[in-house]
Amino acid sequence: MLILGIMMQFVNLTGQREAYREELEAAERAVLDSGCFVGGPEVAALERELADFCNSDAGCDRAEPKTRAITCASGTDALTIALMALGLKPGDEVIVPDFTFIAPAECVDFLGGIPRFADIDPETLQIDPESVKAQISPKTRGIIGVDLFGQCAPFMELRRIADEHELWIVEDAAQAFGATSGARRACTFGDISITSFYPSKPLGCYGDGGAIFTSDVELAEKVRMLANHGSRERYLHETVGMNSRLDALQAAILRVKLHHFEDELKVRRENARKYDEFFSSAGARIVPQKIASGNTSTYAQYTVLAENRDAFIAKLNAAGIPHCIHYPMPLHRQPCFASITDAGCAENNADRASRMAVSLPVCAFTDVDFIIDKLRAAL
Ligand SMILES: *Cc1c(COP(=O)(O)O)cnc(C)c1O
Repeated sequence: MLILGIMMQFVNLTGQREAYREELEAAERAVLDSGCFVGGPEVAALERELADFCNSDAGCDRAEPKTRAITCASGTDALTIALMALGLKPGDEVIVPDFTFIAPAECVDFLGGIPRFADIDPETLQIDPESVKAQISPKTRGIIGVDLFGQCAPFMELRRIADEHELWIVEDAAQAFGATSGARRACTFGDISITSFYPSKPLGCYGDGGAIFTSDVELAEKVRMLANHGSRERYLHETVGMNSRLDALQAAILRVKLHHFEDELKVRRENARKYDEFFSSAGARIVPQKIASGNTSTYAQYTVLAENRDAFIAKLNAAGIPHCIHYPMPLHRQPCFASITDAGCAENNADRASRMAVSLPVCAFTDVDFIIDKLRAAL
């Protein structure tokens, strides 16, 4: 993460640790003293709590099957295991958004599949269902919807398309654990959904970690088996899997943070509201990512589109405001995908977003009032 002169962190993880220090240290000590370091009761308890969190939607008890949670070693592993569980085969095509972190496209390619890139909506920056339709071929098997920057992808439309063409959906909620769309929580929209506990994600641990969510009992069993060397019964391997496990230490840390998570989300949303208010009155040509009606974001970052990004970044640098570019290049222009994309294609919305996007700090331990004062003076 970017740490500038005044030592303000893009994600203030030291401020968060200070706030929960006693609880964290007690939890960490208990694991270290227990002698149980991988899996075990902390991991089992976390999995129950993650599932309960996702199933507890805005007041109504869903009649639908409940989501189960299976932890693993990272968000990228979670995506890989999800695709294996859904039976992705070499040559199968999967539609992914053009404007996102590389992981979803990378995992498809890693398993021999072919990622097909759908353009994004220019305002919400989410995958555009019309562009998804245009990418469907006889080889298409599924769609990966990414909850970009903490806002759920348009899953109602994606589900309609998926049902019509008999495709599965994977929800990549690596940035969006805790987001809502309608009355439902993120991690409940895919046939399989995943999240990441990378330290700077909205719910982060102190290393790598991830989780896989599904309400399908058979898929849940398959996922657990694949994450454990393809084995249900010790030393009996039904299929070739992988080793992807969460440490007990990370689970204990996540349980402490999950306890405070709703309160953190409230502060994140209040911080974002302050930025919204500032940018709507600032007059500069800087427009925040639009949050679609019915959605609440986790604000993994607070991302704006700046007409003249270089000038805006020069001002951020001069004012000592940490910032990041998510993402400087759409996936269809990445060198690693050159053999499956058309280098000469016309500029699309993902290109424009890559040229204009800048992310600002927004976590619950960021002093957004201080940043906005600096912005007001700088812009
Ligand atoms: C971070 C991220 C991932 C990968 O998660 P890791 O835990 O870092 O492997 C996948 N997809 C998206 C959209 C992400 O932001």
